Amino acid sequence: MIETKNLQKAFGDHLVLAGIDQHIDKGEKVVVIGPSGSGKSTFLRCLNRLEEPTGGEIWFEGTNITDPSCNINKLRQKMGMVFQQFNLFPHLSVKENITLAPRKLMGIGDKEADERAMELLKRIGLEEKADAYPRQLSGGQQQRIAIIRALAMNPDVMLFDEPTSALDPEMVGEVLELMKELAHDGMTMVVVTHEMGFAREVANRVLFIDEGIVQEENEPKEFFANPKNPRLKDFLSKVL
Ligand code: ADP
Ligand code: MG
Repeated sequence: MIETKNLQKAFGDHLVLAGIDQHIDKGEKVVVIGPSGSGKSTFLRCLNRLEEPTGGEIWFEGTNITDPSCNINKLRQKMGMVFQQFNLFPHLSVKENITLAPRKLMGIGDKEADERAMELLKRIGLEEKADAYPRQLSGGQQQRIAIIRALAMNPDVMLFDEPTSALDPEMVGEVLELMKELAHDGMTMVVVTHEMGFAREVANRVLFIDEGIVQEENEPKEFFANPKNPRLKDFLSKVL
């Protein structure tokens, strides 16, 4: 589904991604971990070209999306993204947040978009919040709405950038639960997170990014039980 070939990203003379070669299959759940500032967000943001790579290629569903002729808006519709800060539109109601992109970008009619929004809200038990505004909701509720807002576009892959890092601890569980459900339903997911329990339970593969490259990758059991890279060992000793 996604392939990166020698993916590079520099900010000025600071090479943040120094050549990432990754192949993510349909249905895979890839968890990305690494120290702060190691390029995890940059990697995710390159995948949907919120950041422009400065070298290498990214292929998505058979298309070279780093090619200048690629229709980036079409591409982004197929890649849902969820950020650390929930990024809901503060001046729109919950339902309007969910229906905006399907109406504007996919040309779905108001009635159908509303029905789909209510279905998604029901799924997370927040249908009674349809007309509320983001500020009236808890962080956990806002983040779950940000997730279903992305799902409303029927994406083929979901990218998560530390989706629980800005939440009060008691709200982390409800967001992880929803992410687990998505994983269980077969969604292709790339997740940057510090939640090692989630990585162990949900990931097919865990990547450790440091100094701009994937230093180690493995299925979670082996990854956590037998880390080989000294920097990964050191990192795990601090977070586990
Ligand atoms: P992580 O998500 O792993 O914490 P980031 O991908 O956010 O790391 O950042 C990696 C490095 O790139 C950091 O040194 C950061 O300062 C730098 N960086 C990120 N975005 C920009 C930008 N827009 N301009 C300049 N430097 C940036
Ligand atoms: Mg980050």
